[in-house]
Amino acid sequence: MVTSLDDLPIRDDLRGLTPYGAPQKHVRIRLNVNENTHPIPDDVARGIVDAVADAIRTVNRYPDREFTLLRESLASYLGHGLGADNIWAANGSNEVLQQILQAFGGPGRSVLGFPPTYSMHSIIAAGTGTAWLRGERDEEFGISPETAVRWIEETGPDIVFFCSPNNPTGTPLHLDTITAAYDATDGIVVVDEAYAEFAPAELPTALSLLAGRPRLIVSRTMSKAFAFAGARVGYLAADPAIADALRLVRLPYHLSALTQAAAIAALAHTPQMLAMVDDIKSQRDRLLVELPKLGYQVHDSWANFVLFGGVRDPHAVFEALLDDDIIIRDLSIPGHLRVTAGTEEETTAFLEAMARITARGT
Ligand code: PMP
Repeated sequence: MVTSLDDLPIRDDLRGLTPYGAPQKHVRIRLNVNENTHPIPDDVARGIVDAVADAIRTVNRYPDREFTLLRESLASYLGHGLGADNIWAANGSNEVLQQILQAFGGPGRSVLGFPPTYSMHSIIAAGTGTAWLRGERDEEFGISPETAVRWIEETGPDIVFFCSPNNPTGTPLHLDTITAAYDATDGIVVVDEAYAEFAPAELPTALSLLAGRPRLIVSRTMSKAFAFAGARVGYLAADPAIADALRLVRLPYHLSALTQAAAIAALAHTPQMLAMVDDIKSQRDRLLVELPKLGYQVHDSWANFVLFGGVRDPHAVFEALLDDDIIIRDLSIPGHLRVTAGTEEETTAFLEAMARITARGT
């Protein structure tokens, strides 16, 4: 007899839930999980390999539990007067967010989010036993200060999750919404800025709000702009007391010596690592211009992906693209699909396939 999940004495609140499930398929053109589709430049890759090779000689010892050099490198990358004490890191920003909920959420506590947003926010809430409260967005997926405050007053959350630019819509969040939300709650306010580097340079980041706001956390990742998704490095900036809280829930030595060495070496080459960001932004802008010409409605995006509507049968279009060896994302938003900006060739292949599919009337 095959054992199923239902046969196991799993926590009642996990019964019936669905795990994170972006399909991982062997497809030539992968534009489905907002990765950076540009590989790391060769000379940078060599520098990283040398650093990892050095680190492997001492893996008989546990790594620096405080990952001090990495925190220093991340602080100097972020600027804004931040120091190593303001930084915390983990294996991807997913783990950073999980540690935040372990420390500040948990059974009997709640987190307010504003769907449609990054699907892991509610999944991490479920995993940590934190109640997920669903706020509603304004027109065109924005969140005004009044909307944020109204939802905080109505639901009284322990934590508020914002995402700017928001995944999957690409929508930016204005700083006055964050400050209004902060003033309306005694809880923790998290701004997930995973895609911040793809926003126009003039969009001020929530990093500029950290001074004097000890309950504000800005979470970032090296997975996107730094093309480091496979290395698993996410981090946050906040008051040093936030890192003290996370030390209570993290596993000792959670960041391996190899991860630390690779990330420090990558940060030492920041200009080359970020060189492809401008190219990705121009491919995103191409999607924003070309998809409407095919009859689709695009939502203005400040990230490395575009959500587009007006798709009669999203699942059929998803499948038709797969037949062309291209994968994008069907997030079950009626009439919509999301595509990541690829290299110039990948974006061209996607747009050409969409033109064919649209002409066929799929
Ligand atoms: N936040 C957002 C908004 C994301 O879209 C993602 C990845 N898709 C993450 C966080 C997690 O990224 P990682 O764990 O790779 O840092």
